[in-house]
Amino acid sequence: MALEFAFSSDQEAFRAAVRAFLQKEVAPVVSRMDETEEFPAASVRRMQEEGYFGIPVPEEDGGLGLGKVGYCIFLEELGKVDASHGVIVGAHTSLGTTPLLYYGTAEQKRRWLAPAARGEKLLAFSLTEPGSGSDSGAVHTVAEREGDRWSITGTKIYVSNGREADTVVLIAANDPKRGANGGVTAFLVDRGTPGFSVGRCEKKMGLHGSSTAELVLDHVAVGPEHVLGEVGKGFHVAMTALDVGRVSLAAASLGGMQAATQEALQFAQNRTQFGLPISEYEVIQFKLADMAMKIHALRFMVYHAAARQDRMGTDPTAWNRLERQEKTRESATVKCLASEWASEVIDEALQIHGGLGYIRGTPIERAYRDARISEIFEGTNEIQRLVVARDLLARGL
Ligand SMILES: Cc1cc2nc3c(=O)[nH]c(=O)nc-3n(C[C@H](O)[C@H](O)[C@H](O)COP(=O)(O)OP(=O)(O)OC[C@H]3O[C@@H](n4cnc5c(N)ncnc54)[C@H](O)[C@@H]3O)c2cc1C
Repeated sequence: MALEFAFSSDQEAFRAAVRAFLQKEVAPVVSRMDETEEFPAASVRRMQEEGYFGIPVPEEDGGLGLGKVGYCIFLEELGKVDASHGVIVGAHTSLGTTPLLYYGTAEQKRRWLAPAARGEKLLAFSLTEPGSGSDSGAVHTVAEREGDRWSITGTKIYVSNGREADTVVLIAANDPKRGANGGVTAFLVDRGTPGFSVGRCEKKMGLHGSSTAELVLDHVAVGPEHVLGEVGKGFHVAMTALDVGRVSLAAASLGGMQAATQEALQFAQNRTQFGLPISEYEVIQFKLADMAMKIHALRFMVYHAAARQDRMGTDPTAWNRLERQEKTRESATVKCLASEWASEVIDEALQIHGGLGYIRGTPIERAYRDARISEIFEGTNEIQRLVVARDLLARGL
């Protein structure tokens, strides 16, 4: 187990460039986006133009080739600025491009991955259904064979980017009786395919810039070139993408924690009560210390997990069983702790702000609403604990 980690000078330069870009292009639109609840199309376009929708994708496939560490650097910085933009990038990159990069044929990479990585097309990932959330292998959307083609029918819900995506990586049951083990397949479904429509878009507590859409599939016909990975192996495709997603989600949480702590630190040093800045009171100092400690620990955890994923590469057939198990346990661990620590840190930052923290439109109030979902999506934290516990019982510590 490699424990040492340092950023290269190129990675530090990338972080600095990203930070400047986000301050210029994203920070100014966030408050209004949160109010209007509109997809931030202009800032998303700017990020796409910079190549930020293909950071971990190799250059030969249209990306920046900066690996998972580079991708987490970006999401950490983005998390400091806005969570909605983070989910838009994450749904596209972690959950959309990963399945294509890891399981796509050369032709699928040319047709779907390269335009997505170059920022010309937006991707989404659709696993959840009304009857299938945590039990994600119990897929009810069916894909029936018709000759060498497939006809997909069903309803998907809660699809991030679902309203805007050009292509959806969609999980459907080719053999419902077999369930997750052999009965589920990943498909590439393009917007505009007859029978495919976007249904209801949810109103949410937070993440107001990110769409969360229902997708309706009514005998959507696709050819064999739309099957991603092997028929019956769609659950592996989905879980591999989620391992990447969970670490990148943690990177965004790390950014959110830093922004909240920075706000709280500044506020505490400037807010005077009982004749002293509140930062002089030990109760406030201890809150700030706890926040900083969680950030410190999480930074190591996120980049350790990202570096492992970079070392393992993007060919799942090259991984041995132990590598898979360690990667999955680590992803679940990092996601679970990151999301809970983010909620705790942001809650304490809000508390330090007193009444002001509860006022609509302050960054800390928005962060509080945005952060809560990270304990739920990409697998609830109960499910992350099940993943860790099962591996612990099977392999020990
Ligand atoms: C804003 C948002 C964006 C999303 N984006 C996407 C997306 O892009 N693509 C996608 O496919 N999905 C997406 N989702 C769906 C998300 O991943 C699911 O909501 C999540 O996995 C939980 O499923 P569920 O809501 O059906 O809850 P349920 O599975 O019904 O869970 C309800 C409760 O029961 C608990 N529970 C369930 N089973 C167990 C068990 N065995 N042991 C202990 N506790 C258990 C859960 O932890 C939870 O607390 C999104 C959801 C939201 C809200």
